[in-house]
Amino acid sequence: MTDVIVIGGGIAGCSTAMFLAEDGADVLLLERGDLNAQASGLNAGSLHAQIQHEPFVEYGEDWVRDYLPALPFYRYAIDTWEQLSNTLDDDLEFVRNGGIIVAATDEQMRQVEAKTKYEAESGLGTELLDAAALNDLAPYISDAMIGGAFCPLEGKASPLNSTTALAAAATSAGARLRRDSEVLGIERNGSGFRVSTTDGRFEAPRLVNAAGVDAGRIAELVGVRLDIQAFPIQLSVTEPTTPLIRHLLYSAADMLTLKQSQAGTILIGGGWPAEPGPQGRPSVNIDSLAANLALAAEVVPDIDRARLVRSWAGVVNGTHDWLPILGEAPGVPGFFINYVPWMGFTGGPASGRIVASQVQGKAPPVDFDLAPFAPAT
Ligand SMILES: Cc1cc2nc3c(=O)[nH]c(=O)nc-3n(C[C@H](O)[C@H](O)[C@H](O)COP(=O)(O)OP(=O)(O)OC[C@H]3O[C@@H](n4cnc5c(N)ncnc54)[C@H](O)[C@@H]3O)c2cc1C
Repeated sequence: MTDVIVIGGGIAGCSTAMFLAEDGADVLLLERGDLNAQASGLNAGSLHAQIQHEPFVEYGEDWVRDYLPALPFYRYAIDTWEQLSNTLDDDLEFVRNGGIIVAATDEQMRQVEAKTKYEAESGLGTELLDAAALNDLAPYISDAMIGGAFCPLEGKASPLNSTTALAAAATSAGARLRRDSEVLGIERNGSGFRVSTTDGRFEAPRLVNAAGVDAGRIAELVGVRLDIQAFPIQLSVTEPTTPLIRHLLYSAADMLTLKQSQAGTILIGGGWPAEPGPQGRPSVNIDSLAANLALAAEVVPDIDRARLVRSWAGVVNGTHDWLPILGEAPGVPGFFINYVPWMGFTGGPASGRIVASQVQGKAPPVDFDLAPFAPAT
């Protein structure tokens, strides 16, 4: 018998295990394959704080009003990254130079202005930039951009190192991380749970569901329905080049995130659709790739000095309202959910800290309302 079983060895599961073990809990993490092998290790490493432009434009003001409670969560999330980058042994490659969204037309600039208003009112410190201010801040951005906005809270970290660093810290604190252990069934066992896996049976009074895109399937095993989504998307990386891109960049024209890693490689993403594949293994869509690269070159023309070396696809976990789902499932005492949609790399360390507190019946160390993230009844 262990105190807590965590299901899923991505960033959500490994951070939950780490915070629980550091608090002295006896933790067993069960991972179907290898740690950091799904979205947490395949993502673009952007640390997002601003409202994402595509849903803002697509869903409008009603959506954004419901989404506003997520803004303090993401601010706290990036502060958590900063703290961990100072305390963990491994280098997370955390950098917080801010994020810039650029506009190429008057209409895009109006959308950026409307979005910035919400962010400024929420204390994100986002500032509008005219063409001259944009050029002063980021001279490497194309002169064709007429302005944009700067969010100083944003940054980046390494998806290759970070979850494995959390896993190592969890192990050092006493957590047991079991790979190749797929959860197949969950039964109520008195006041706790009996979990059947491909690798044996385990019991605990409390479970944390951190199974990413598979969180819905795990929840169903205890009769809980999670309204979640999954989309195959893709990402590309160039060979290393000399320092060029200092910030996390977005475009108001279409889906784009652009950043340069510590090693000098440039990551080009933004959520372009990939081809769905068997067993959750999507593949790269060439039309998406061409559109993504063309947009990147419009924003940073000098990007053409770096050759592309690899493109890959992964499955991103979503929710309709873009809000995280964090906490104990109503009607199933002891069953907790740690699910951060779309931007779960950014949110993973913070959601781990929050859910680890909830599991122990402690008040999470946050100064914002978690009620909007409570699992639905
Ligand atoms: C291409 C791409 C780019 C992205 N870019 C960004 C970005 O720049 N910034 C950002 O913040 N977010 C980004 N995201 C989203 C982010 O990666 C995810 O939201 C986040 O990694 C989710 O973490 P997780 O730990 O919840 O899930 P995962 O990393 O998917 O981990 C879940 C784990 O659960 C395991 N599991 C599932 N079922 C079972 C079972 N039955 N038994 C045992 N284990 C099980 C899986 O094997 C997996 O290892 C991106 C996603 C993709 C795909």
